[in-house]
Amino acid sequence: RAKKSLTANYEYYAPEMEEKTTWRLGMIRQLRSDFAERKLELWYQPQVDLVSESVVGMEALLRWPAQEGGYISPAVFVPLAEYSGLIIDIGAWVLEEACNKLRLLHERGFPQLRVAVNISMPQFRDPQFISLVKQCLIQTSIDPKSLELEITESVVMDEPQIVVDSLKALKEFGVTIAIDDFGTGFSSMSYLQKLPLDRLKVDRSFVSEVNAGKSAFIAETIVTLGNKLGLQTIAEGVEKREQASYMLRLGCDEAQGFLYAKPMPFDELQVFLDNYQVRN
Ligand code: C2E
Ligand code: MG
Ligand code: MG
Ligand code: MG
Repeated sequence: RAKKSLTANYEYYAPEMEEKTTWRLGMIRQLRSDFAERKLELWYQPQVDLVSESVVGMEALLRWPAQEGGYISPAVFVPLAEYSGLIIDIGAWVLEEACNKLRLLHERGFPQLRVAVNISMPQFRDPQFISLVKQCLIQTSIDPKSLELEITESVVMDEPQIVVDSLKALKEFGVTIAIDDFGTGFSSMSYLQKLPLDRLKVDRSFVSEVNAGKSAFIAETIVTLGNKLGLQTIAEGVEKREQASYMLRLGCDEAQGFLYAKPMPFDELQVFLDNYQVRN
């Protein structure tokens, strides 16, 4: 019923829509004040080289502590942050925080690690975005190639020209670029030609079912496509040994998933790195 009212016939008044709007506004208000009080956290999930199994980098992932304990999923609150425009400030903080922490790791004996940061569409529309990225790198004196920006296919399709122009400028500066959740976006693949990409992230949905026919073929096709285009590939959501070995056999370069480590706070990441093989 809710779905039907969403198809925009305003004569059918649906109380649950109003509830939803109220809930959303409440969440946004809380997110704004929690962000202002520096309550958001940035966690990190290691990424490993599939051949050597050494850590090559990590993805930075937002965490929003809930009042009742636990965390509100970024899958829930990032869309609200985008919708409200808060993602501009939150995203700027994520970039700074990720670069500062990477700088620390570089100083503490892991000079080869990179960090990947997820970027939303509103950030590309922000005229300050490119200079913000450059600022972060200059202030921390991080080699730009150690910063990777992750964008989804939907971001690319949303407003191709803005994204193409921004990515070209950032790429010229030396930053690397990955397409996130690759294969889930129902989009034209022509952007693979237009964008200065470095890496394809094979979506978890294809990796998790590499034992079952179709997903395995899709995973294989994405890795082959990446290899032929001269792009690096990374498998997302690797939870089982056999998924890792299957992806390795396909020629996939890297992996990320619970098999190696879940996302964790920075302090835990440091302990993890002290006890794990790290590329140097
Ligand atoms: P994503 O960028 O595709 O991130 C990967 C998600 O997969 C993360 O969920 C991670 O915790 C989860 N994951 C990793 N390995 C495994 C595994 O082996 N099994 C399973 N089942 N899941 C795994 P998370 O942290 O909940 O983030 C969800 C999404 O929220 C992210 O998807 C990303 O799109 C968005 N997000 C997170 N942080 C940020 C941020 O700082 N900025 C923006 N714009 N978006 C963010
Ligand atoms: Mg990502
Ligand atoms: Mg992803
Ligand atoms: Mg995914």
